[in-house]
Amino acid sequence: MSGVLYERVALIGLGLIGSSLSHVMRREKLAGRIAGYARSAETRATAKRIGLADEIHESAVAAVKDADLVILATPVGVYGKLAEEIGPHLKEGATVTDVGSVKSAVLRDVAPHLPKHVHFIPGHPVAGTEHSGPESGFAELFTNKWCILTPPPGADAAAVARLEKFWRACGSNVETMTPAHHDMVLAITSHLPHLIAYNIVATAADIEDVTNSEVIKFSAGGFRDFTRIAASDPTMWRDIFLSNKEAVLETLGRFSEDLSVLQRAIRWGDGDTLFNLFTRSREVRRGIIAAGQETTAPDFGRQPGKK
Ligand code: NAP
Repeated sequence: MSGVLYERVALIGLGLIGSSLSHVMRREKLAGRIAGYARSAETRATAKRIGLADEIHESAVAAVKDADLVILATPVGVYGKLAEEIGPHLKEGATVTDVGSVKSAVLRDVAPHLPKHVHFIPGHPVAGTEHSGPESGFAELFTNKWCILTPPPGADAAAVARLEKFWRACGSNVETMTPAHHDMVLAITSHLPHLIAYNIVATAADIEDVTNSEVIKFSAGGFRDFTRIAASDPTMWRDIFLSNKEAVLETLGRFSEDLSVLQRAIRWGDGDTLFNLFTRSREVRRGIIAAGQETTAPDFGRQPGKK
């Protein structure tokens, strides 16, 4: 157990990630006191009822007062506006971080609004589910998952080390990299898969000769796994694609070329090309399981009769 790492933590946004952070900070006793901000009265009421923070505020400015660690955990599209609001009210020496799924845009949107006397160290816990909202969080979300930090050049080493310690205490492995590298890696490992999932579900819904009931009835044929990813929060994902435009378009271009190769192989009966590509893909999955990032259980660990 690490003990208190930050006397006062402000959680700006109390959705899946914010509430999971609250649970794990409580379990590991990482914060002396947690202040929470949520936009809607409904989320604030839920947060109070389930005890996500010691104090819940209607404004982000009130929540960051005297905070030693401020964590932005809203959709990335509102970070700039929030940073502008809280900037003048941040405590000297505080660390400001975030959990956003893109990093170059966060640096661009947030950094200009922060005073020189705070440490801005963007971060991204590569952990999530398709659920959102204050009741979807759980303390184990970050266990054995990666958290990527993108400290700007010249960032205070002690502040970075303390934030790393925080994420390790949350159960994560920590790696640091540049924002641009982060965005390229996540474009292929997360953003493109979500785009494909959203698209395949939309295509299936549009095919008129496959009735809705058949899509549901035979979904275990592969489609169901796409629908889980495509159930992710629309606001969050809209913001991710708009904020990571270049990297997503670059990987999408590569993907489209590779898809054309498959299309051609099917058209010309080129079984070797298909077989070789599928064999390589299988190895990738085995590597992911070996790295402890996925279960070996059949049907992705689903239990019969359970969702
Ligand atoms: P979420 O469950 O949808 O929660 C979002 C939170 O942000 C809610 O408290 C919401 O308030 C608040 N919010 C939304 N729009 C706002 C606005 N315009 N102004 C102020 N607050 C606003 O989202 P999440 O999954 O926790 O995601 C939060 C961040 O984590 C995103 O930046 C995302 O990129 C990142 N992330 C997500 C995942 C994932 O799998 N979900 C994984 C890693 C990182 P109300 O409830 O009051 O509307």
